[in-house]
Amino acid sequence: MSRILTYISRGILLNAKPLRCVVSHQQLFSTTPHESSHTDQPAEFYDIIIAGGGMVGTTLACSLGKNPRLADRKILLLEAASGFKQPAIGQSSYSNRVSAISKGTHRLMKTIGAWPHIEASRVKPVLKMQVWDACSDALITFNYDDMSENISWIVENDVLLGSVYRQLDGVDTVKIRYSSKVEECHLIRDGAAASTVRLANGERLSCELLIGADGYNSLVRKTMAVDNFTLSYNQMGVVATLKLGPGTANNVTAWQRFLPTGPIALLPLSDDTSSLVWSTDVAEAKRLLQLDEQSFVAAVNEAFNKIYPRKGIIDEVTKNITSLISSSTGQRLEPAPVVESVVEKSRAAFPLGLGHTSTYVGHGVCLVGDAAHRVHPLAGQGVNLGFGDVQCLTDTLAEANYSGLGLNNLSQLVRYEQERLKHNVPVLLTTHGLQQLYTTDFAPIVGLRSVGLTITNALPPLKKFLMNYAMS
Ligand SMILES: Cc1cc2nc3c(=O)[nH]c(=O)nc-3n(C[C@H](O)[C@H](O)[C@H](O)COP(=O)(O)OP(=O)(O)OC[C@H]3O[C@@H](n4cnc5c(N)ncnc54)[C@H](O)[C@@H]3O)c2cc1C
Repeated sequence: MSRILTYISRGILLNAKPLRCVVSHQQLFSTTPHESSHTDQPAEFYDIIIAGGGMVGTTLACSLGKNPRLADRKILLLEAASGFKQPAIGQSSYSNRVSAISKGTHRLMKTIGAWPHIEASRVKPVLKMQVWDACSDALITFNYDDMSENISWIVENDVLLGSVYRQLDGVDTVKIRYSSKVEECHLIRDGAAASTVRLANGERLSCELLIGADGYNSLVRKTMAVDNFTLSYNQMGVVATLKLGPGTANNVTAWQRFLPTGPIALLPLSDDTSSLVWSTDVAEAKRLLQLDEQSFVAAVNEAFNKIYPRKGIIDEVTKNITSLISSSTGQRLEPAPVVESVVEKSRAAFPLGLGHTSTYVGHGVCLVGDAAHRVHPLAGQGVNLGFGDVQCLTDTLAEANYSGLGLNNLSQLVRYEQERLKHNVPVLLTTHGLQQLYTTDFAPIVGLRSVGLTITNALPPLKKFLMNYAMS
């Protein structure tokens, strides 16, 4: 943890250097943007090129393309995959890749006009949440008074992406190209007049600003040659679509139990369907994928209900705290739903890791989403951080363009970076801290975390603050 803190604070200090702000727009564009020093062939020019058309890159293209202050700018989105097929809602079963999205993301989707499409497709509001410790009686529950507000929404990634694509229809300033893997980037600082990318087919394209939205293995970030902290949790997130047993007609609760091997979460998709995200060590994840369907369902139900060895003293202390500062809120909710079956072929597993780059921006280049930061899914924050980047970068570039500063004015880009560091770093550290704190059954640690969770649960203002911060 201290290594991460040192690393990240070093990043913030480096980023605060005023030196980077003194490079003027004229210096960056000493020759015309259409020229490139890497070859005699002029490259096709765009104002902005976004490398990577995942959820974050596509939403960024839409958000920039729809901003009136950027209406005079040409944007190109390059995606390596061969295309995107709109999900056939109604005929198809739920996708196994879903995201819990925050209020900030909800606002962004509304701003770009994608929310009505999401609502018309499939989305499930979460009204309650229970997080509990398998090694003690400690738990925390979240909900707004009288369920008056949603805590978050569970959306299939393809539904979100498809809804954003629909909004891109008719945005003339944005062009999308599939099967367009960026193989090489040249940044302005390499002596070029503009940032240039070379695609797998040999084609070259240049731009005033290159944005890396190309995921945690980002080529754009590698080309920037900045420090990038990475850590593998040696865990995988096993996902699946699950059918629930009778008695769960009002499925509006997100459940997460911290097992000594990692958290298991059940996220509501419909009245009788939920999505599983089970983080566990690699060998166990592989075993879970191999199990026949019945054994897999039994393993999931066991994980939510198994009684682990307890230390009586810890349960005694948490019971006393609860009775001392008990409140009417924070009571244990009804038991987690019983899983009846797993949807055929819905099981898959993804590696889990932590990543953070010391620098999000450079001359003619910047990073968004997992290309800049990667977190464990236990707090459902990964793509929400990316969407926060989208909102902030859109505002920054719109302001810069409107005031005639240009799209790669470094002082403006540094403002984007500093704004996002303030939000992303605390979330990253908290998520990593929770991951470390809960991946052990060592009694003193179990005792400390149980007391902390119990106190937090018994203090509604503190809980509300945490809920608002995490899902804002
Ligand atoms: C099991 C699991 C559960 C999760 N649950 C949640 C959740 O509930 N809430 C939440 O907020 N987050 C969640 N996350 C995190 C979330 O999925 C990621 O943060 C998010 O997908 C990152 O989006 P992105 O667009 O930045 O990157 P990516 O999804 O990695 O997209 C990158 C895109 O760039 C393309 N690309 C890559 N290289 C190139 C190249 N050279 N040229 C052109 N294109 C390229 C790729 O094809 C891809 O389409 C979860 C993650 C996992 C693993």
